[in-house]
Amino acid sequence: ASHRFDSIPLAPPDAILGLTEAFAADTRSEKMNLSVGVYKDASGVTPIMKCVKAAEQKLIETEKTKGYLSIDGLPDYRSDVQKLVFGDRIDAGRIAMVQAPGGTGALRVAGEFLARQCSPTRVFLPNPTWANHNAIMQSAGVNVESYSYLADDRRSLNFEAMLNDLSTKTRPGDAVLLHACCHNPTGVDPTADQWKEIARVVSSQGLIPLLDFAYQGFGDGLEADAVGLHTMLDACAEAIVCSSYSKNFGLYSERVGAVGLVAGTPAAATASLSQLKVIVRSNYSNPPRHGGAIVATVLSDDELTQMWKAELEEMRLRITHLREQFVAGMAKQSGAPDFSFLLKQKGMFSYSGLTAMQADELRTKHGVYVVGSGRINVAGMDEKRMDWLCSVVADVLA
Ligand code: PLP
Repeated sequence: ASHRFDSIPLAPPDAILGLTEAFAADTRSEKMNLSVGVYKDASGVTPIMKCVKAAEQKLIETEKTKGYLSIDGLPDYRSDVQKLVFGDRIDAGRIAMVQAPGGTGALRVAGEFLARQCSPTRVFLPNPTWANHNAIMQSAGVNVESYSYLADDRRSLNFEAMLNDLSTKTRPGDAVLLHACCHNPTGVDPTADQWKEIARVVSSQGLIPLLDFAYQGFGDGLEADAVGLHTMLDACAEAIVCSSYSKNFGLYSERVGAVGLVAGTPAAATASLSQLKVIVRSNYSNPPRHGGAIVATVLSDDELTQMWKAELEEMRLRITHLREQFVAGMAKQSGAPDFSFLLKQKGMFSYSGLTAMQADELRTKHGVYVVGSGRINVAGMDEKRMDWLCSVVADVLA
């Protein structure tokens, strides 16, 4: 019998993970990795937060079963997410909330919901966007379109083009994906006033806002980072929010996320929840317990909640300081361009303006790893070696 698998072609490697492998194999001691998508502390590791360790300790002692969760997940976790994402501005009866395996799992469930229940919807993604958005939405069976986002200077929002695309390219019932804060990969977010304008267009065009909320607390703080999302909810009766706790709880490998769907009426929320559960059931049956239980344990305990907020604030401030240090360091390099635009950008990521060739040279000549798009993970910088980093960046820019 002939082999069925012999002619299967090799899939292309993931561009960013490929760089991580190359970085690990690089023997130069001065190497620096600015390509990864995770937070790093001052010693270059992705730490387990203290509040998480404490919650796990508590869970080990109190957890009584590893039995399946229900299809929509842990009730305490779901109500915590509801508070974090929506505050108290939406009547709980209008929200359908489903725990999901990470933000990725949440986006996949939301995508399938759009494909099955809102057909013939299309989803509009910003250009550029997180590389996985396109693949997730296509796998979910939604047609993907894009709207203008980044300006030609690659460091600011082309707001006019964005609004123009959203009001001329879309049809009522289409979905528009918006990064609620800390746009990945560019770090370029709309201002509060711009969010109002966006919400007005999304509402008047009859679009479904699909908000990707993966970095709450990494921009201007937990509450401030929800402003755009809340503005959208004030203007639109319906919305879907895909949130992730990978970054703000440092729970990357525990796969903790959620889909929060806001419906116009409680009856519509009930029906939507039942359909979300049908999708979950045929995908992964029910979500993993541990990560959601950690978040719920932290948020049900005042002391652990305070600890979490303080640790999250520390991460946020570290990123802000690194941005400032890098900009100041580049200003000292003679002939180097002005990098002060990095101070306006939010979250871990920024488009540095480096070209693919410069990124390549930075890696081969100096051991500094940057994605070909020029995206840098600011949290990957080492403050003790900032002068060196600035000098090698200046070298490839010269
Ligand atoms: N959305 C955006 C914009 C992201 O950057 C990421 C992770 O990098 C995710 C969603 C998915 O996060 P998770 O690891 O929770 O699946």
